[in-house]
Amino acid sequence: MAAQTVASTTNSTPAANSVDLGPAAALSCRECGHRVPLGPVFACEECFGPLEIAYDFSGYDTEELRKRIEAGPANIWRYAPLLPVPADVADKPNINPGWTKLVQADNLARELGVDAGKLFVKDDSGNPTHSFKDRVVAQAIEAARAFNFTTLSCSSTGNLAGAVGAAAARAGFRSCVFIPHDLEQGKVVMAAVYGGELVGIEGNYDDVNRFCSELIGDPAGEGWGFVNVNLRPYYAEGSKTLAYEICEQLGWQLPDQLVVPIASGSQLTKIDKGLQELIKLGLVEDKPYKIFGAQAEGCSPVSVAYKAGHDVVRPQKPNTIAKSLAIGNPADGPYVLDIARRTGGAVEDVNDEQVVDAIKLLARTEGIFAETAGGVTVGVAKKLIENGLLDPSLTTVVLNTGDGLKTLDAVASDTGLTATIRPNLDSFREAGLG
Ligand SMILES: *Cc1c(COP(=O)(O)O)cnc(C)c1O
Ligand SMILES: [Zn+2]
Repeated sequence: MAAQTVASTTNSTPAANSVDLGPAAALSCRECGHRVPLGPVFACEECFGPLEIAYDFSGYDTEELRKRIEAGPANIWRYAPLLPVPADVADKPNINPGWTKLVQADNLARELGVDAGKLFVKDDSGNPTHSFKDRVVAQAIEAARAFNFTTLSCSSTGNLAGAVGAAAARAGFRSCVFIPHDLEQGKVVMAAVYGGELVGIEGNYDDVNRFCSELIGDPAGEGWGFVNVNLRPYYAEGSKTLAYEICEQLGWQLPDQLVVPIASGSQLTKIDKGLQELIKLGLVEDKPYKIFGAQAEGCSPVSVAYKAGHDVVRPQKPNTIAKSLAIGNPADGPYVLDIARRTGGAVEDVNDEQVVDAIKLLARTEGIFAETAGGVTVGVAKKLIENGLLDPSLTTVVLNTGDGLKTLDAVASDTGLTATIRPNLDSFREAGLG
């Protein structure tokens, strides 16, 4: 088990006696199955394995559930019956993320040699704070309400800080979030503008995360809900909504292949959980699907372990422009390896130059400006097609999890004016433009 979760398994803040988090029934250990009541805990008291939400979905009729979802709001709360949230969640102050576009990417498909109509980009840059993190924070906020926390916090590689700041502002929580001190300016501004406290830590993300684990065990952290630490089981479930949306947007069908970015690996594992739930609930027809994980070469602990055939993930010191994915010691790494192997997918990485090329490729073919994480997934998709691991004749969904405006520096030196001319036609012609 990852060291960062061992420091403390419980928070000193008492949970409410009975919490209403909809269909969430208990917390269950992913390693040993030990069950505990819903509360702000994240590690198993028996084996230190990660706790995740166990649901009671009994009593759902498939077609009634499908109708209820389709009649729901155009955001993640259409899936409230499948999430750890109260039934009236849509009425509470929330930034209501989700229901982002699934773009049929025929121009990109042509360039990559994928069959027409088979390639899609799930574009999560369209969320309120322009990254997928709004989905997970929305779940954590409901847990924070249920457990009577007053301050929302997190360790962040940038996007999460902004998502927590925005959601806390709207929901009326104090927020105090922690980031590595050297993040991209776009991410710092986006995290600070919502008015919460933003603390830079001298160190990398893994140092920030370790610090947060210490704070949780200390009286100074009393009343604090860390969305990705002591509220992690709830937070993580938000990623299931990506799986639900992709399938519903494909006409209630599973895609054949998905290319998913890996930071801690949480998103990838919960996308798999979401797909499995849809199959079990009968909302999609069961068929094989492959999940491919994508990392940047400069932070590729999972990809390295995958290629070496290892079950354990050796931590790395990150050095890549894909800072939102720069987690050197990914908590869910071993589970990602399991899923890639079980589904027949793979884990691959691309270098920073390929990330930049992929950002520009997606922008010029589909008009989608991705942050570096999207450059990683598009670049990895290209590489997987070239090395024959991704089948270009099958329905494939590539995730773009953030907006390019957050990481302008990545492409700034590579883009610019085509020409500078005087404001007259002669000058225009001289420049070879007319
Ligand atoms: C956080 C993040 C991810 C995925 O993170 P996991 O820790 O693997 O769930 C992917 N893309 C972006 C842009 C992110 O900010
Ligand atoms: Zn356990």
